[in-house]
Amino acid sequence: MQYTEVMVRYGELSTKGKNRKDFIGRLAGNVTRALQDFPEIEIHPKHDRMHIVLNGAPFDKIDQRLKLVFGIQTYSPTVKVEKNLDAIKKASLELMQATFKDGMTFKVNTRRSDHDFEYDTNQLNAMVGDYLFDNMDNLKVKMKKPDLVLRIEVRQDAIYISNQLLHGAGGMPVGTAGRAVMMLSGGIDSPVASYLAMKRGVEIDMVHFFSPPYTTEKALAKAKELTGILANYSGKINFIAVPFTEIQEQIKEKLPEGYLMTIQRRFMLQLADRIRAMRGGLAIFNGESVGQVASQTLESMVAINDVTSTPVLRPVATMDKTEIIKLAEQIGTFDLSIEPFEDCCTIFAPPRPKTKPKLDEARKLENRLDTEGMIQRAIDGMEITPIYPNQKFLDDKAEEDAELL
Ligand code: ATP
Ligand code: MG
Repeated sequence: MQYTEVMVRYGELSTKGKNRKDFIGRLAGNVTRALQDFPEIEIHPKHDRMHIVLNGAPFDKIDQRLKLVFGIQTYSPTVKVEKNLDAIKKASLELMQATFKDGMTFKVNTRRSDHDFEYDTNQLNAMVGDYLFDNMDNLKVKMKKPDLVLRIEVRQDAIYISNQLLHGAGGMPVGTAGRAVMMLSGGIDSPVASYLAMKRGVEIDMVHFFSPPYTTEKALAKAKELTGILANYSGKINFIAVPFTEIQEQIKEKLPEGYLMTIQRRFMLQLADRIRAMRGGLAIFNGESVGQVASQTLESMVAINDVTSTPVLRPVATMDKTEIIKLAEQIGTFDLSIEPFEDCCTIFAPPRPKTKPKLDEARKLENRLDTEGMIQRAIDGMEITPIYPNQKFLDDKAEEDAELL
């Protein structure tokens, strides 16, 4: 079936003028970027719908991209035909044959904005329905909740026919909710948290702490490659690698073991907050889930969160591990997340971290270190890499490239 257009219906759209304009404008920009490999396409954002004119581009390829773009509630591939009955019948039959499976029910639903067209909606419903009956086997009509609804829209310029209502990614266009930093490890949870933040329209910069030589090139490459997967949902994402070795070594050398984890996390959060401020972000996201491990008890959150008054948002805070894993599988990050390249936290993890660290104690211990100096050196050493959808960092090719450098 050669579709000519895609009709896009917006997601959770605020009715207020300025927000609505921003929503539609961002969505149009994000769709344009997602479909940039198809220069023949035209995008027409209107106040109630967006029309994507395919000009020959293949719908199945467009579909793969479009279903990842936040802010789209539903969309329908559509055929545009001339305003005569034969053209309507022919296209309707082709559409139905392309999507019909034995035993399915259907109905025809016509709408008209051109009231001068020679047939009204009832006539069209009846004539097209009869024609389909005569030309297809085992077709059953059902008025309430049929499997297929053949929609015919009679407009001024032409007639538009579709029979599929596909579900979009929902949420809000990335960028409409402002910017934030995301603390991305190589684990299962933070990529899922990233996805959920982007789904609410937040544009994120990834902040990743690494500790060479304790962590390998591969651990860093894994975090970058995860970012590449997540960039499918947003377009390019900036990845900020922050050296964390000195801080971890100093903490390990100078502080009691029970507080290693708490103090490390306080440093991570302070660094994330500095980077957020430098980049004009408004909040910090992470992948913590209440009670999952020692550093994620409410007591630990109190002792760690103490370093900033910036909102720290935790999209997976209340989810069970099984729920998080399910989402990780859906968004395509799970298989990579479980690859065993150790990140900086596992390596310096004490065997018995405190599950109920004391805030005063954490502050006191941290004061024994050259906090300001170490933070400054970590910031000075950070490296920013723009990462594009599906960009690879772990495959053989990426390895060869790295060896040549
Ligand atoms: P994840 O699956 O996201 O790694 P986790 O359950 O393993 O989470 P932790 O390792 O305790 O939990 O990390 C909690 C959160 O702290 C992570 O979700 C992430 O947001 C942040 N974090 C941990 N390690 C790093 C890192 N190396 N760089 C950036 N952020 C990190
Ligand atoms: Mg982890």
